[in-house]
Amino acid sequence: MYDTVIIGMGPAGMTAAVYAARKKMNTMLVGKEYGGQVAWTSEVENYMGFQMISGPGLMDKFEEQVKHYPVERKQSEVIRVEKESDHFVVRCKDGEEYRCRTVIYSAGKYPRRLNVPGEKKFTGQGVSYCAVCDGPFFEGKSVAVIGGGNSALEAVIDMLKIAVHVYVVSIEDWSADPVLAERALQAPNITVLKGYQTLSINGERNVRSITIRSLASGAEKELAVEGVFVEIGTMPSNAPVKELVQINKLGEIEVDCSCNTNVPGFFAAGDVTNIPEKQVIVAAGEGAKAAIGAYRHLLTSTP
Ligand SMILES: Cc1cc2nc3c(=O)[nH]c(=O)nc-3n(C[C@H](O)[C@H](O)[C@H](O)COP(=O)(O)OP(=O)(O)OC[C@H]3O[C@@H](n4cnc5c(N)ncnc54)[C@H](O)[C@@H]3O)c2cc1C
Repeated sequence: MYDTVIIGMGPAGMTAAVYAARKKMNTMLVGKEYGGQVAWTSEVENYMGFQMISGPGLMDKFEEQVKHYPVERKQSEVIRVEKESDHFVVRCKDGEEYRCRTVIYSAGKYPRRLNVPGEKKFTGQGVSYCAVCDGPFFEGKSVAVIGGGNSALEAVIDMLKIAVHVYVVSIEDWSADPVLAERALQAPNITVLKGYQTLSINGERNVRSITIRSLASGAEKELAVEGVFVEIGTMPSNAPVKELVQINKLGEIEVDCSCNTNVPGFFAAGDVTNIPEKQVIVAAGEGAKAAIGAYRHLLTSTP
């Protein structure tokens, strides 16, 4: 029986592992792969202690730090977490299962994909899912933002200050808050293309253009852009636990400021939760809080 099983090897999970091990908790860290979302970005400029580091480079540092501690690690996909009397059972796709007194669930989020040719090839080479993070790399360039919701319009407003021109491509009318839409539309360097479907992202080594099609006329056009921000929503990786814990209407696990969920002993941290900011430094901090919370729970609940 583990004191804690941590699910997810992103910034939140790996930080939780270090904190749990330093509290001498008998810890298992299980995740699909090391790194999480940040491993998809080429450069990180906002993690303290590093002026600039690649996403994979930063996650290698996290992994190195985890390996200094006696944490059992297993690369596997968790398919279900169940509560059984006074403990939890974590079931994995490979058939393994782990029993534990506490769970720290930090399975993160994944961006919804466009699923068009070129998207996968150019991810990190012009295609980004995070304008806050990657926007500065497109200074003085033309970019397209795909989407019309709040996150898309926030990306547009950020990019209007950085890029030379911003095309906003959406299938439907914008669903973003009017205040965001009004602010975006005041800029001189915006072109709004509503009722357009993105067909492909084109280039050789880097993005050079996108091809879009008008839903009304069927006419296709090519936009010369060097960056494409796909902002059509994110999906919390909640599948293994959505019947166990309380989630909000966005599918995020609801936590309080100490990472407690509505199930005692089940903690959640990072992007999979309802914390408002989705950033590495925030996820790492939340992972630390969740591990300390799990430690306190063990102190007060173990006879
Ligand atoms: C392209 C991109 C660039 C970014 N750039 C920056 C940046 O420059 N600076 C910044 O601060 N933030 C950046 N972010 C945001 C940052 O990556 C996230 O806020 C952060 O990674 C969240 O960490 P997390 O540990 O909560 O979740 P994640 O990073 O999503 O990690 C969760 C991990 O859990 C695993 N997992 C999911 N489901 C399961 C399962 N069922 N079983 C086992 N494992 C599972 C996933 O595979 C993943 O490895 C960027 C995000 C993206 C997408």
